[in-house]
Amino acid sequence: MRVEQLGDGEPEIAIVGGIHGDEPCGPRAIEALLQADPDPARPVKLIVANEEARARNLRYVEEDLNRAFPGGPDADTHEGRLAHDLLAELRDCVVFSMHSTQSYGGPFALCDTVDALARSACPYLAVDALVETSQFSDGRLIERPNVLEVECGLQGSEAAAENAERLIREFLAAVGALPGEPHEDREVPVYRMCRRIPKRRGDRYEVFAENFERVNAGEAFAAVDGEQLVAEEPFYPILMSSYGYEDVFGYTGELVGKLEPDTEPVPDRR
Ligand SMILES: [Zn+2]
Repeated sequence: MRVEQLGDGEPEIAIVGGIHGDEPCGPRAIEALLQADPDPARPVKLIVANEEARARNLRYVEEDLNRAFPGGPDADTHEGRLAHDLLAELRDCVVFSMHSTQSYGGPFALCDTVDALARSACPYLAVDALVETSQFSDGRLIERPNVLEVECGLQGSEAAAENAERLIREFLAAVGALPGEPHEDREVPVYRMCRRIPKRRGDRYEVFAENFERVNAGEAFAAVDGEQLVAEEPFYPILMSSYGYEDVFGYTGELVGKLEPDTEPVPDRR
């Protein structure tokens, strides 16, 4: 784990990249920020989490770090011990953690449930959506309070690395560490993850639906070896891709409201 700092004093803000070693956007953005060496109004901790997995360009070495929290000092796996060490580094910090996906090109934010951090930071972030992971937070960093995650774009793309650089600066503006303003006129839709969409074993997977675009009941949204999967009820696809995950296409979601600058989210139903 690489830990760096900008500014003097004990940081209450942490930026994390490289939870997954095959997602270079976060570590690249952190490196770019260190090179730029801005002088923040509040000290900021910068962490590249799974350097061992990053060096091998693998998602993880022994187990998925983002399923291994809280871990422990004597855990059986590299990631189990790393999870424990990372949480120790993040104690007393609000956390911004960067990822990338195989499912969606645009940036979007994720939180366990919409909290004060998500409400105050998201208006500053150029994101297409905010996703509540709720029942799927187990073992993820996001389960801890005061963590906002962001998916920066497609894994390995230049766009994801550029988005990550911009998103760090936007987040640091939101928490008063760097100058910046919220995006006016931007409404961020809030979705909640509801169910996994299982993927049976096959040779060829297809996805017809677009993430965050409503799928209607009766609509074919994916196929395995040409056999279509049809929606029994309407849903919004989240993190859905043909080959991104081994045993699921992604998740069904519901639209629960929207975030506007300086307003509470307006839930449709809760
Ligand atoms: Zn990731």
